[in-house]
Amino acid sequence: MPFTDEIVTAVDRLSSTLIATSRFLHQHPELAYEERESVRHLTSLLKAHDFEVIDGFAELPTAFVAKAGVDDASATIAFLAEYDALPSLGHACGHNLIATSSVGAALALQPYLHALRGQVLVVGCPAEEKGGGKIALVKAGLFADIDAALLVHPSNRTEIFKNALAMRALRVEFFGKASHAAAAPHLGINALDAVVLAFTNLNALRQQLRDDARIHGVITDGGRAPNIIPDYAAARFCIRALDLEYLHDLHRRVLACFEAAAKAAGATVAIHEEGEVYHPMKCNRALGALFQANLEALGERVEQTPEDQELGSTDVGNVSQVVPTIHPTIALTDQPDVVCHSVAFAEAAGGPAGDRAILLAAKALAMTAVDLFTDPSALRQVQEEFRHA
Ligand SMILES: [Zn+2]
Ligand SMILES: [Zn+2]
Repeated sequence: MPFTDEIVTAVDRLSSTLIATSRFLHQHPELAYEERESVRHLTSLLKAHDFEVIDGFAELPTAFVAKAGVDDASATIAFLAEYDALPSLGHACGHNLIATSSVGAALALQPYLHALRGQVLVVGCPAEEKGGGKIALVKAGLFADIDAALLVHPSNRTEIFKNALAMRALRVEFFGKASHAAAAPHLGINALDAVVLAFTNLNALRQQLRDDARIHGVITDGGRAPNIIPDYAAARFCIRALDLEYLHDLHRRVLACFEAAAKAAGATVAIHEEGEVYHPMKCNRALGALFQANLEALGERVEQTPEDQELGSTDVGNVSQVVPTIHPTIALTDQPDVVCHSVAFAEAAGGPAGDRAILLAAKALAMTAVDLFTDPSALRQVQEEFRHA
């Protein structure tokens, strides 16, 4: 394929800059919607390489769009950058690597975009871990004129296709009446009992659910002192399923569990939706096959596991419903029990394993964009699959 050698060499030439960027993000972890330093660092690098940068998008100050290439392009490819970290664990999801590999692919392609007749976007996507920044970007129409969206997530395995669970997050509050827990319990209404009953109801519901359904929660407020009947208690839950129809059915049944719990305790209940609905992943096989061929040409072994197992949820799912998308993973360690959201994973993301993943991912991402710019039949196949899926 023309340009492949040039692209691989370009990533290698950028390697010290990319590794320094990844390490900087790793050493300055920022939570969802607060990724100001990270965004400043990434956008200044893109500007220095002649990308036109829009700071902020869809009322998200830490979103950005960086663009380079020709206007009448054969294709417009978006590399998605995530850069939020986790409370207390730092970059234990390795989003420093996602951001850097997407930026790296774009920088490597930039000098060749005129010759390739291509246009490249780096879409800065805040808040993957909480709230789902990409959902706002989708709703604002950012992906309307894009031919394909790509990003690589670090993992404990290198694989191309993985589904994602649709998800809704809920916050529930129960209101009771305080009273002396020993002298006058009969005058109180116990809001904590309502939370406990809600968990009991959900545990019963779980037995009747499909295997892919998940309900999990934490108690965020359980009262203030054992000698006061709690007049207020609260909890947060996530509910997940492989498809939206079942998710919404599950949602209806979960609300019934909360309402029944309130009724039994004599409390009142307020239920709040938290954030937007996460959609499942629509995997684009044709696009994934291009990426896989490039990854294997670079010497990486792909180890595809069942696509509907060991699933989380991601706002990339919402992107995948409006534009052909892939969300492959690259192994950060060869130890299968080092999974993301762990201390060991955070350490790997800031060390040599992370550096390897960035360079490999940036090369395979850029090579896949070259395929789409130079091979109209490959692009057509990706688009046809998306339309008919
Ligand atoms: Zn994560
Ligand atoms: Zn992640």
